[in-house]
Amino acid sequence: MIQLNRRHFLKGAGASGATCALASFLPGSLAAIEKQPLKGMTSEVASICEMCSTRCPIKARIIDGKNVFISGNKEAKSFGGKVCARGGAGHSLLYDPQRIVKPLKRVGERGEGKWAEISWDEAYQFIAQKLTAIKQQHGAESIAFSSKSGSLDGHVFHLASALGTPNTFTHASTCPGAYVIAAKAMFGTKMKRDLGNSKYIINFGHNIYEGINMSETRGMMQAQMD
Ligand code: SF4
Repeated sequence: MIQLNRRHFLKGAGASGATCALASFLPGSLAAIEKQPLKGMTSEVASICEMCSTRCPIKARIIDGKNVFISGNKEAKSFGGKVCARGGAGHSLLYDPQRIVKPLKRVGERGEGKWAEISWDEAYQFIAQKLTAIKQQHGAESIAFSSKSGSLDGHVFHLASALGTPNTFTHASTCPGAYVIAAKAMFGTKMKRDLGNSKYIINFGHNIYEGINMSETRGMMQAQMD
């Protein structure tokens, strides 16, 4: 049984990224997988991590058509060629037996936790009926659409526009948007923080070890080690 406490986890994740963190904390087999030479039906596919909005470049190791390991893309120098522990866990998101792959409709009272699987056709029909009823009763602008920013938000916002509401937002609206606007107002441009070479850091409202941007987290760890 591997003992992993929060302190060790954060230290591992921040200092070295998931490749090393997993190698340190998980059974030897995962670390061994990354070191195995590519042969037979094994391949590596370059992609991006979808586990948070930083979208770090990754390499997914595939054996017989199945992803077995995720590591940072070493060609992506500015990201340090690493992923964080959450990024490495993207593998589990893909194959977790509890992953939701079909629409679920609540069949009990709110909060009761009772759900039934329904078809996509039923789900779209139900959503369309509800949206139409809300629009007729309260107007289209009473509806807001939210999407994780990324490759698919355009589709969701296109739907919002078709329905007649301008109310859309993403993670960027509440997180990097505020920081980018504040930096532009104060410095006239985007701000790139050189955390790694900083001697004194004052940080408000942003946990750099948990709201992770890999390059910033590594910079923070670098500043602490120097
Ligand atoms: S910071 Fe971690 S979870 Fe976010 S994109 Fe990068 S590797 Fe993935």
